[in-house]
Amino acid sequence: MTNGDMRYGHCTVCGAHEVFRGEYTAQGALRQSGSLLGKQPVFDAYVCAACGHTQLHLRLEGRMASYVQRNLQWIPPYQGT
Ligand SMILES: [Zn+2]
Repeated sequence: MTNGDMRYGHCTVCGAHEVFRGEYTAQGALRQSGSLLGKQPVFDAYVCAACGHTQLHLRLEGRMASYVQRNLQWIPPYQGT
C-alpha cells in the first residue's frame, strides 16, 4: 500500500480525514478497449466529504482479478531515470 491509498482514511487530494466508504456499481462493463464484451464491475468507493475526491477499488473476488489480467492492457511500471 502507498500514501495514495484512501482506504486508510486520508484524502489524497485535500488531506482531510473525511473519507467515507460506499459501493459503486456500473450498468456498463469493464472491458478491453474496443471490445464489445465485458464483465460488470463492482467498486468500493472512497469519497472525501470535504472536497468530493473519490477513489475506486475494483472488487477482485469471483475471478475478477484473472479477468483483468487476461483481458485488459497491462501498463509496465514506470522506470524513471
Ligand atoms: Zn478531500
